[in-house]
Formats: sequence, structure tokens, C-alpha cells
Amino acid sequence: MKNWKPVRIQVIEAEWLQEQKISLSILRLDEWHTVVSGNKWFKLQYYLKDAAARHCTTIATFGGAYSNHIVATAFACKEMKLQSIGIIRGERPEILSHTLQTAQAYGMKLQFTTREAYRQKDAIKATYNNVYWINEGGYGKPGALGAGDILSLVENIGNYTHIACATGTGTTLAGMISAALPHQTIIGFSALKNNWSLENEVRQLLSDEKKQKPFTIVHDYPFGGYAKHTPDLLAYLREVWQQHSLPLDFVYTGKAFYGLQDMIINKKIPGGSRILFIHTGGLQGNLSLPKQALPFS
Ligand SMILES: *Cc1c(COP(=O)(O)O)cnc(C)c1O
Repeated sequence: MKNWKPVRIQVIEAEWLQEQKISLSILRLDEWHTVVSGNKWFKLQYYLKDAAARHCTTIATFGGAYSNHIVATAFACKEMKLQSIGIIRGERPEILSHTLQTAQAYGMKLQFTTREAYRQKDAIKATYNNVYWINEGGYGKPGALGAGDILSLVENIGNYTHIACATGTGTTLAGMISAALPHQTIIGFSALKNNWSLENEVRQLLSDEKKQKPFTIVHDYPFGGYAKHTPDLLAYLREVWQQHSLPLDFVYTGKAFYGLQDMIINKKIPGGSRILFIHTGGLQGNLSLPKQALPFS
């Protein structure tokens, strides 16, 4: 994969960290590429290898109009000279979202489906031949395996006591749990509201040997629900940008970072911890906000 910048680790300095003697470093996967968020590419890599091994030249997957996974799939397929099909939830709007325009520009064929039809994924799959299917959001064991590779980018990974990231399907979290060292605590911040089945879905992606590993999913910071936002959240994103030059997205990383800061301030994370926060990217999603909502995009 070309066009990637080397990945940077940003150390955050703030009073709320000093007070508890906690160090917080950010793995800036968002800087890899302006459109394709870091974790999505990682999750896709083993699916695409598997497709190649099976001589499949068309990849198809599912997603909504703002799905980072849809754009990442379109981009990765273009790079690998594969055809791509996106099954999009909901009927075709008059004006395509920025996300879908980008996916289309990368050559993805968009197939809009009603919300009812979208739920019948097997029925949709049955209408295509010779297509390699990837689950919505890249959920699955190959996805988790690929996400685990993220940690191998980090030199001295063993220095960290905690690894934290935003969670949607839990695939990235499962990858972190599998790849982390035994002394490390893994924390995922769910971007969905009351998604109580998530723990189980994460565990299903772990090998028998890793199934017993402890991990924490925090459900306390959905800000109204998936892809919803509040004025407070947007104000927080502006504040983090002003203080740390750290751009966050309103769907995933903003909520996760807010939650992490809140937990540190409320002493829910032990003093002296050394935390690595994985910036999973997704900044293209901010383009769906009104212009000037954020001083970065
Ligand atoms: C998709 C996404 C996630 C969630 O990843 P999962 O593997 O589905 O849990 C987190 N952050 C960003 C920016 C994403 O786009």
C-alpha cells in the first residue's frame, strides 16, 4: 500500500494527566491517509488476501451512507485492482453523502436497498455470483487478526499498561485483545447506545486460548447514540483541537477520547498508568457536519 506516511505517536500533556501521574500517548493512525481511516485498512487486509487466494476479483460489503468501512473497502479494492460493490442501507438519496461520493470515485458500484431489504443479508448475497463478501464493518476473525497488526507498529509496546480505542463492531478491540501482552488492560468505548451484545460479539472473535483474557467495554459515552452528536461533544472536539492539535471525529474517536478523559479525571483508571490510545481515524465522517462546525476536518 503506497501513500502512507509513517505513523506518529503523540504524547498528550495536560494537568488532568499530571495530577494522576498518568501518561497518555496517541497512535495517530488518522495521519496515514486523508480518507481511509487507519483501522479500516488493517481490518480489510486478510479478507483481501483471502479473496486473492480464492481468485475472487469482486469484493462486496454492506454499510450506511456515512460508513468509513465502505470508503476504505472502495479505496483498498482500487489499489489492489479489484472490483467493489457496496450494498448501501436506504434508498438512493438525491444528493449522495460525501462518503458515498468518495467511494464511487474510487470505483465502487453502489447498490441501494430499502432498510427492510438490507436486513435480509443472505437474500441479497444470493442475488450475486462469484463475489467475495465482507461483513458490515469488517466484522469477523480475519478482521480482528488484521487489526491486531496495528500494535506491531508501536515500538516499545510493552511499556504501556493500558490500550484504549473506540469500538463499533468490536473487531478492532478483539484484535487488540489478541495482540496485547498479558500485563496490558484493553478498554473499548462503545460508539453505540446500549449495545449490550458487544461483549459477546468480541469474545466470538477470540481464539479459545484468548477467550479468558479480561477486557473492558465502556458503554457510558454514546452522546445520544451511534453517529449522533450534541453541542457539548462538538465543543469538546474544538477544545481538544485547540489544546492538543488532535483532530477527532464525532462518531467514534471523539466519544472515546472524551470517555477516557472523564474516566481519568474520575479516577477510574489507576494513577501511574501508561495509556496508549489508538486514533482509529474516521475524520472523513466530520465532512457530514455543517461547514465550520469544526476548525479542522
Ligand atoms: C469503524 C471505526 C471504529 C470501530 O471499529 P470496529 O472494529 O468496528 O469496532 C472505530 N473508530 C473509527 C474511526 C472507525 O471508523
